[in-house]
Amino acid sequence: MNKLNIYDFLQKQILMMIGLSLFPGVAYIILGWLNNVVYPALIWYGLMVIVSFFGWKLYIYDLRLIGKEDLSKWYRSVTLYFYMIFGLWTLIFILYADESESHLHYIAIFTQLGASVVASTILVSDKKLFFPVLLILMVPLVGYFTLIDEWYGYVLSVFSVIFLGVLLYSSENSYRLIKENYYQAQHDSLTGLYNRRYFVDYIERMINRIEYSKKFAYVLLIDLDHFKTINDTLGHDIGDKVLIAVAKRITDYCGKDHVVSRLGGDEFTILSPEYDESVNCQEIAYVFSEKLLQRLKEPYHIDNHNLYLSASIGINGIGNVDIGSRHFIKEADIAMYEAKEQGRDGIIIFNDELAQRVKQHLEIERKLYFALKYDEIVLSYQPQFDANENIIGVEVLVRWDSRDFGLLMPNEFIPIAEKTGLIIELGNFIIEEAFKTLQEWEEKGIILQQYSINISVRQFFHTSFTDEIERLSKKHLNEECRKKIIFEVTETILIEDMDKIVTAMDKIRSLGMSFSMDDFGTGYSSLSSLRELPIEELKIDRSFVGHLGEYESDELMITTILSLAKIFDLQTVAEGVESQQQYDFLLENGCNIFQGYYFSRPLSQKKFEVYYYQFMKVQKPLFED
Ligand code: C2E
Ligand code: MG
Ligand code: MG
Repeated sequence: MNKLNIYDFLQKQILMMIGLSLFPGVAYIILGWLNNVVYPALIWYGLMVIVSFFGWKLYIYDLRLIGKEDLSKWYRSVTLYFYMIFGLWTLIFILYADESESHLHYIAIFTQLGASVVASTILVSDKKLFFPVLLILMVPLVGYFTLIDEWYGYVLSVFSVIFLGVLLYSSENSYRLIKENYYQAQHDSLTGLYNRRYFVDYIERMINRIEYSKKFAYVLLIDLDHFKTINDTLGHDIGDKVLIAVAKRITDYCGKDHVVSRLGGDEFTILSPEYDESVNCQEIAYVFSEKLLQRLKEPYHIDNHNLYLSASIGINGIGNVDIGSRHFIKEADIAMYEAKEQGRDGIIIFNDELAQRVKQHLEIERKLYFALKYDEIVLSYQPQFDANENIIGVEVLVRWDSRDFGLLMPNEFIPIAEKTGLIIELGNFIIEEAFKTLQEWEEKGIILQQYSINISVRQFFHTSFTDEIERLSKKHLNEECRKKIIFEVTETILIEDMDKIVTAMDKIRSLGMSFSMDDFGTGYSSLSSLRELPIEELKIDRSFVGHLGEYESDELMITTILSLAKIFDLQTVAEGVESQQQYDFLLENGCNIFQGYYFSRPLSQKKFEVYYYQFMKVQKPLFED
């Protein structure tokens, strides 16, 4: 149990103790008055009021706002308060214990025993305080019984000692139970680090404190890179051991000053101590993170495996800002994701530019809901050519013609739609519009061999995906057209089980449609996944095509992809073909289909139609959108 819990618990007990002292105290005055000992009782009650007032001041203290030193001072005062208040109860016991004629001594003995029970209940969380207080209460009682100097007095004093033992024993048990409960509620069972709940609670307190003390601190959010691969390839047992080893490295590195917690999965956080305004907190955080990252990257030896890990770290400063804890965590999270996006194994400090981007994302997120309603989602069609430079297909590409932002490209809003879940509605809309266009073209004599539609991961795995495709295709497409549909998915679908992917794909394929692996080579598909996936086409990512002639490695990459495709009997599409040289290289190496600005940019439906008719007549692709 940590100090803050003890302090919290103790603070709540102060009020109860004040009540338990002042109200029964009045009865003592009355009893004193009835038995002619009112003056000592009044003096005693006066002292009780003073001590209770002192206790009240401690009770109303906002513990969230005070720093470590003040907190220790507060605790010392609380200890003093409890000593004084129980000391006063012993005092009244000593005063009344002698009043045997008026039988007040019975009441004194009873209250002293009562006070001991009260003390063992309310001070149970603090062993250091509880033990001396109990002695203050019980020793005079034992002494009193002994001093009677009669056989029953000795019996009572032995009983009192036994009673003291029972109280100590039972409170020790309760203490252990409370400690265990607190521990479980605040710790992560796997690593023994603090859990998310404790972390959020702690950071909230820290923010309150910092607002008041004007100090600075920082929070670090650490996410291991590709941890899922360890779990998937070596099993969860090893994965758990890695997490334990990582947790140990972090705590060893951080020492006692920092608060380390595991938020869940492979995500850890570190909260720094509080610094004065004069130090450069950001610099400290960065240097701290760099060294930590180095430590985390040292090899792990787990069950005969040598494992190498890296991590992405997001840093956010805390101080001088009036926002809640969740924002600080969220901002650190954004910084961490930025580190991931920049290639992982890195450190990013949350900054104004990121904040601005987040703001814009939020704006886009908010307005995207209305994009469909306002009819602002439009489709573009980029032609695809075969080796004889005939148009054989198109790729459908979405745009958002927003009244607020102008024309937005998919990269600017698809990831946001994915995150919010709007991709389902948006994706279904795109598919339906695309199906309608294809059917319309068939009727107009624009005959294509294939028709590619991009599908995002979340959309692909949504429970309604296959049913929706079935419904829409039956509504808009005849059997011939259905066979032309190719759904482009990226390697990110491989985050799910192969069985699940194959089941979903097979269902769609039973409708006559097929699949293409988009942006191939940028993700992490393995040879075995290529063999297992029921796909018909590979699309070589435009980043390789774009660097043809610049890097030999990209040429090698392309020839390798093309040979792989041959092995697995897959059709190949090169995207992003921008020049004659690129086209020639791809053609020479056996690529089947070509798409890119060299032939045509993506075109609106109307422009594509004009382009198609012109092209079929003059065979010269010179159209620019
Ligand atoms: P993608 O599927 O790889 O699409 C190809 C992207 O390359 C398109 O960008 C296209 O305009 C661009 N491109 C084509 N030829 C060239 C070229 O010669 N040079 C260069 N530099 N670029 C070329 P766009 O339209 O901005 O789309 C970006 C990505 O957004 C797409 O990449 C796809 O992943 C996603 N996307 C587009 N439409 C949809 C959609 O309807 N649904 C979903 N889920 N994602 C979509
Ligand atoms: Mg695509
Ligand atoms: Mg692509």
